[in-house]
Amino acid sequence: ALQVDDIHKSFGRLEVLRGISLSARDGDVIAILGSSGSGKSTFLRCLNLLEHPDQGAIRLRGEALDLVQSRQGGGLSARNARQLAAFRARIGFVFQSFNLWPHLTVLDNVIEAPVHVKGVARAEARDKGLALLEKVGIAHKRDSYPSHLSGGQQQRAAIARALAMDPEVILFDEPTSALDPELVSEVLGVIRALAEEGRTMLIVTHEMGFARDVASEIIFLHQGRIEEQGPPSEIFHHPKTERARQFLAKHL
Ligand code: ATP
Ligand code: MG
Repeated sequence: ALQVDDIHKSFGRLEVLRGISLSARDGDVIAILGSSGSGKSTFLRCLNLLEHPDQGAIRLRGEALDLVQSRQGGGLSARNARQLAAFRARIGFVFQSFNLWPHLTVLDNVIEAPVHVKGVARAEARDKGLALLEKVGIAHKRDSYPSHLSGGQQQRAAIARALAMDPEVILFDEPTSALDPELVSEVLGVIRALAEEGRTMLIVTHEMGFARDVASEIIFLHQGRIEEQGPPSEIFHHPKTERARQFLAKHL
C-alpha cells in the first residue's frame, strides 16, 4: 500500500532522518519504536508531508508523489496544491494531542474534512460520521465540544475523524502518551480493532505490550536510521543490535 524510499530530512544542520525506507503491504501494522529524538515524529510527518523530505520518494499504491514539486515555498502551483491535498487525504494522521477543532462539536469535527475537502454531501457525511462515532464508542458525545470529553474520548473522536476520510494508511504518533493511564486501554482497544479489520497503519508508540501483540512488524529507529526491523517475536525476544537490546531493557 505504502512504499517509502530513502527519506532524508534535516533541520538546518541537524540531520534528523538519514535515509529511511520501508514498505507496508495492505493490512500491515508497523510499530515504530525508538528513543526520544530518534526522528519518529519527523518520519511520520514526512509521510503526510506535514514536513517536506529533502530527498527520497513516497509511493501510495504505486503512485509516486512528486516531492520536489510539492515542496512548500517553491511556489506551489494550483495543480500541485491539488495533488498534495489529494495525497494527504489518502493518509490519515492521529496526533498525540488529538488536535480536534475546539469550536466544533465532535460530529462536526468528524464530518469537516469529508464535507470541505472531499465535497461529500452533509447528510451523507453525518450518517457515516455517526456510524464511526458508534464504532469508537462515543456516539452519545456527538453534540459535545472536545473540551467536555475525557482524553480517551477525544482521541477516539480523532480516530473517527481520521477514518471519515477512508484513508489507505493511518499514521499514529504516540496516540496514548497524553492520556491518563486508565484511559490508555480504551484507545488501544480501538486501534487493535482497526488492526483486526485489516487497516494499514504505522504507529509510533511506547506501549511495548501493544506493539508486540498487534504489530506485524517492528521498526526500531536510532538517530534517524532504521537500526533494526523485523516481526515482534524477533525484535522482542532476539534483538540483534546492542542498541535495540538496551532500548528494550529500559522499556519492557
Ligand atoms: P519523541 O519520542 O521525543 O517524540 P521523536 O523520535 O519523535 O522524539 P522528532 O520529534 O522526530 O523525534 O525529532 C527528532 C529531532 O529533530 C530532535 O532533535 C528535534 O529536536 C528535531 N526537530 C524536530 N522538529 C524540528 C523542527 N521543526 N525544527 C528543528 N528541529 C526539529
Ligand atoms: Mg515524537
